[in-house]
Amino acid sequence: MQTASVSPGASQGIIQVAVPSPLPQTFDYLLPADCSVAQIAPGARVRIPFGRSHKIGIVMALESDSRIDPSRLKPAIELLDHGALLPPAILSLAQWASRYYHYPIGEVLSATLPTLLRQGEAAQITKPSGEKMWLLNDSGRAISPQTLKRAPRQLALLQHLQQSEKALNASELDVQFENWRGVMRSLHEKGWIDIQEQTTLPSPAAETTTAPELNAAQTFACDAIHNALGGFQSLLLDGVTGSGKTEVYFNAVEQVLRADKQALILVPEIGLTPQLLKRFQQRFAVKIALLHSGLNDKARMNSWLQAKAGDAPIVIGTRSAVFTPMARLGIILIDEEHDLSFKQQEGFRYHARDVAIRRAQQAGIPIVLGSATPSLESLHNARQGRFQHLTLPERAGNAAHPKIRLLDVRQQKLTEGFSTTLLQAIQHHLDRGQQVLLFLNRRGYAPTLICHDCGWLANCSRCDAHMILHKSRNLLRCHHCDSQRRIDTQCPDCGSVDLRPLGQGTERAAEALAELFPQNEIIRIDRDSTRRKGALQSLLKQVQHGHGQILLGTQMLAKGHHLPNVTLVGILDADQGLFGLDFRASERMGQLIIQVAGRAGRGDKRGEVLIQTHHPEHPLLNGIIHHDYSRFASDLLIERSQAQLPPFRHIALLRAEASRRDQPHAFLSAARDMGFQLANTQGAHCPTELLGPIPAAMEKRAGRYRALLLIQTHQRATLHNFLRHWLPQLSQLPQAKKVRWSIDVDAMEIG
Ligand code: ADP
Ligand code: ZN
Ligand code: ZN
Repeated sequence: MQTASVSPGASQGIIQVAVPSPLPQTFDYLLPADCSVAQIAPGARVRIPFGRSHKIGIVMALESDSRIDPSRLKPAIELLDHGALLPPAILSLAQWASRYYHYPIGEVLSATLPTLLRQGEAAQITKPSGEKMWLLNDSGRAISPQTLKRAPRQLALLQHLQQSEKALNASELDVQFENWRGVMRSLHEKGWIDIQEQTTLPSPAAETTTAPELNAAQTFACDAIHNALGGFQSLLLDGVTGSGKTEVYFNAVEQVLRADKQALILVPEIGLTPQLLKRFQQRFAVKIALLHSGLNDKARMNSWLQAKAGDAPIVIGTRSAVFTPMARLGIILIDEEHDLSFKQQEGFRYHARDVAIRRAQQAGIPIVLGSATPSLESLHNARQGRFQHLTLPERAGNAAHPKIRLLDVRQQKLTEGFSTTLLQAIQHHLDRGQQVLLFLNRRGYAPTLICHDCGWLANCSRCDAHMILHKSRNLLRCHHCDSQRRIDTQCPDCGSVDLRPLGQGTERAAEALAELFPQNEIIRIDRDSTRRKGALQSLLKQVQHGHGQILLGTQMLAKGHHLPNVTLVGILDADQGLFGLDFRASERMGQLIIQVAGRAGRGDKRGEVLIQTHHPEHPLLNGIIHHDYSRFASDLLIERSQAQLPPFRHIALLRAEASRRDQPHAFLSAARDMGFQLANTQGAHCPTELLGPIPAAMEKRAGRYRALLLIQTHQRATLHNFLRHWLPQLSQLPQAKKVRWSIDVDAMEIG
């Protein structure tokens, strides 16, 4: 522990530290006792006393004096980095994000760091950086089954390892065995197992694939990106599914690597796009650093440090990777830019796409946003001339657009949710040895359980929601608060035992398909069937070269998978999204349908898409079937403009929740009244509208009541100016103590 023997004064130096805490400001400290001014760099971590404990903060600046009487300043405890851990580019990006999202700088910076660095670990690449692999040694191979006849689990694992030629990693073992680690330990203790460590960074592929000859639209896009290199520009790569966007990314990355720069590629969820990763590895024989939540802490820190040092020319990561320091950043690419997972939905509610654009601007480099279904924000930006709009209207290679048809299911006989026309089409495609993909965006067996005698519904007691029936696990589960209970056998209201599943989820549809198509394999892909690590990969592998299978799944199936044998896509219920409560519901439904439809006919055979609906005349569905995402999006943009919604207005949501229903309303009303006064003083020429408070779409969730207030302006600057003055006053409101509240700038859903 340091004593206060350091005499405070200007020559001593004072550091301004960003500390993770709910307070927005930075904090001043004296230098640590053994430390001179010359050793301190902004961007270094420092351990400081904070309240009754210690915290790790980031040095933002060195000052010669402080707003606070220096005799009251405490010395920092220790400096953790020599030099800047976070370079100036990341510090200024974080400062911008802190101002833009009105979130404390200390929290923002802390969120940019890999866990181990946040905890104070030395910023060094650690060895071994490897993941463990398990392999039988010679004595293990020689064991006869008799030896283990009283340990059936050990025997099963041993036999599995005996059959495998190579060492297996944890995710491969996860797919085959539940709770294998203890069993493996027993085998290891018997001396039959060798444990190897392999590097987690994908090693450069031995053979790299070469680029196909680019078509005219691809060439045009690549040239545009080429011309943009070396300066800031946003380019929207708007290419239909299968149009070869990935080839354009490759070409851009190649150009950047040739100039000895690095490329940062952001993807929605790495677990869902294993194929994209593999294609990058096959194309580029360079080190690729991965940054996503599936990595262990060490691997993640190593990737981060390699990116920072410039040792990894390609960095691929999810949302938070947008803050990775990179020594020689030359380009940023965002795949599936419309994907909602780029927006963090709690805490620091940033949008990685928007932060990335800001980063590109600060760095003076181009950014490419790719999608088959661009967000309305990006399309609007392209139309306003802020983004260069690059289109790839045709599928690449030999693949043609699939044929899309609406199936009017009104008054039709449905067998477990399937119309006769759809069933016949499925049979037709299966008979030709092709695969069928069916999309139903509802997991579980049925959306709920109903009493056939009195109409009672199984609801969650903690949320305004139904309990979802999961038949295979004999459970009713709430997907909002995760509470669960055994399936009721008797109605709690009338005592009837005639309780029936209501509606259809993927589990039930899979059960029906197994009866309808007993000869064919049914593969269900949703959160439940892919819970175990590596399960999705192995299911996709099964599908990749398969024939005559039916794939049934939720939106996980919409994500960029290349499934060349799928020729029929069936959408079981398109009506879900048509009348959603949220203003983005139709945009999202259209994107989903087009992305799912895009899985059809990506090989040599033409694809077909059938969409079941009760609203075949709906204009949005009609936009979709003419393959015209741009027409569909234009219609939506007109609606948004008329309804004065984003991207024509700038919005923020003030959310509040509490255990009593009246508390969030009381807080939000007081906040609104305070806001009215403030908006008046800002002048009438740049109005700030405050709408609400209204209850959230799901008012009660996990036992708490939620409500919201919408803030809306014409100009972005007006919004931020208003928030900057308003938010600090809110914590002073007496009603604030009774609620948990947060601000969400550019909220993606009003709910
Ligand atoms: P997207 O990312 O737009 O969905 P992909 O890049 O995955 O499309 O391309 C779809 C398929 O077309 C891939 O198998 C890819 O190898 C192939 N492809 C891309 N560009 C060309 C081209 N110019 N000529 C031939 N095949 C191509
Ligand atoms: Zn009943
Ligand atoms: Zn619940």
